[in-house]
Order: sequence, then C-alpha cells, then structure tokens
Amino acid sequence: MDRDIECMCMNCGVSLYIAMGEIALDDSVISCDHRMVRNLFCTECGGALAMIGLAGEQPRYRLE
Ligand SMILES: [Zn+2]
Repeated sequence: MDRDIECMCMNCGVSLYIAMGEIALDDSVISCDHRMVRNLFCTECGGALAMIGLAGEQPRYRLE
C-alpha cells in the first residue's frame, strides 16, 4: 500500500501530497536538507519539489 509523501514547492511553498510510488527522488541534489523530487513538479507554478516527509508524520526537527 502506498503512503502519501508530503512535498513542498521550493518556489511558491505550497504543500503537495503525492503517493510514494509516484515519486522518484534525486539523491544527488539536496536543498535545505531535503531530498529533491526528480520526476514531478509543482502543480501551481511548475517549480521544483522537495520531499518533506510522510504525510501525517511530525517533522523530524520538531521538539519532543
Ligand atoms: Zn509552486
């Protein structure tokens, strides 16, 4: 079962939720500590997307 991945547009900042199976990550490009999505782009502006994490999970940097 695919889980949704939360991705953020590096250009306009919108959050998108995309099924894990749809995403190809570019391991060679890391921007602001996030891995970049290689095959999909922002539906709003066409900008590059960065993977934030699994949908519904707390960000790792959040204080416990
Ligand atoms: Zn955008």
